[in-house]
Amino acid sequence: MKKSYKAEPYRIKMVEPIREISKDKRIELLENAGYNPFALRSEDVYIDLLTDSGTGAMSHEQWAALMRGDEAYAGSRSFYRLESVVKHITGYDYFIPAHQGRGAEQVVLPKLVKHDNMAFISNMHFDTTRAHVEIAGARAIDCTIDECFKTGEYHPFKGNFHLDKLRALIDERGKENIAGIIMTITNNSAGGQPVSMANLRATAAIAREYGLPVLIDGARYAENAWFVKQREQGYKDKSILEIARETFELADIFLMSAKKDGLSNMGGIIAIRNDKELYREVQGTVVPMEGFPTYGGMSGRDMEALAVGLQEALDEDYLTHRMDQVRYLGERLKEAGVPIQYPTGGHAVFVDCKAFAPHIPFDQFPAQSVVNALYLESGVRAVEIGSLLLGRDPDTKANIDTPLQLMRLTIPRRTYTYAHLDVVAEGVINVYKKRKTLRGLRFTYEPKILRHFTAKMEPIG
Ligand SMILES: *Cc1c(COP(=O)(O)O)cnc(C)c1O
Repeated sequence: MKKSYKAEPYRIKMVEPIREISKDKRIELLENAGYNPFALRSEDVYIDLLTDSGTGAMSHEQWAALMRGDEAYAGSRSFYRLESVVKHITGYDYFIPAHQGRGAEQVVLPKLVKHDNMAFISNMHFDTTRAHVEIAGARAIDCTIDECFKTGEYHPFKGNFHLDKLRALIDERGKENIAGIIMTITNNSAGGQPVSMANLRATAAIAREYGLPVLIDGARYAENAWFVKQREQGYKDKSILEIARETFELADIFLMSAKKDGLSNMGGIIAIRNDKELYREVQGTVVPMEGFPTYGGMSGRDMEALAVGLQEALDEDYLTHRMDQVRYLGERLKEAGVPIQYPTGGHAVFVDCKAFAPHIPFDQFPAQSVVNALYLESGVRAVEIGSLLLGRDPDTKANIDTPLQLMRLTIPRRTYTYAHLDVVAEGVINVYKKRKTLRGLRFTYEPKILRHFTAKMEPIG
């Protein structure tokens, strides 16, 4: 039974052929890849749901904007165009581009780490954010509501901060040891789950009370605003831009991977509300690390495309279609009994692999096992978000356990149709039917930092 859906709010002007290679070939390639789909060539993938980061389609307006790129090293016209859009959306005084989100992180986060023993607290740190916090010599502490971990139970804002825990954490460590509060919106690692405005407001109030800086890690701030409009009382008549602005008012610093809600293939944003001193410090560091402050690692043409993409991402028809694609895929899986993080969030369907393959222990990476089986089944590439990604505890060096052993089926923006999503759904459902045959994995090579990208593994037994 097919669910009804509304057609894509665009027509296709350019196509990129994809093809499905044979199952025998996939078996061989996955073994060569060390059972890590990051090592596959994209041409050997039929439908690529590895990430929504930089993988979306640009609009005709964005392609046209590329031609206006001003590649001047300093004072590029394209910088000023992008700056005006960022200031318009955020209401902040200062903007510096970065080559992508992690570029913004590496420049800004160390500025807030003033001494040893400091920590950032977030509803949930994204993996590169966690890595940059640790590289800066601080700890990354997650503080999400408990409902987030009950994948089968409905909660409209599973990305929310646990407010009591937040306060307790600050008291326990001492406010002088907290480098900042990072609001990750949407909460990527928890399933692209939104955070309510009420929760963001309460979090910001706690931060103010203790005099702590508030950062928005806002790769998907527009998607979060869409959920606020849909699910939170008092917002249904507000525009996405109005809701986004209300969000930015709560923070001091905005870091963004523009590869997400920037609808661009590459780019990052640093915006600072009004702290001129911090702005100057960041400006100084950005030169050796990312580039001169009017390009920060981006080409002029990419700044033009981003200036257009940021505005298109606030369009409600676009957002509604995007969220509907995610919801559709989630519903098809849920109907077939596949356990998912429910309700679906913004950019992906997250399959609960702890429930999918309960016979595989966390340190044999159940979600990675499901990801691999899905590639073999249907040529679809997904990604593990679980213990493989979390890595090892910095103190004990043990693998970190988490109730969220997830397979993320990430939907690129404006890229695939509902027919593609049906292929994905059928693939996952077929793997689910033979879930008892899935096996755990062990490392044959384990990198020290961000191991999931380049690890090599083999099936156990
Ligand atoms: C993608 C992402 C980042 C890192 O951005 P890159 O552009 O991949 O470097 C940081 N935080 C969140 C929440 C993200 O989704």
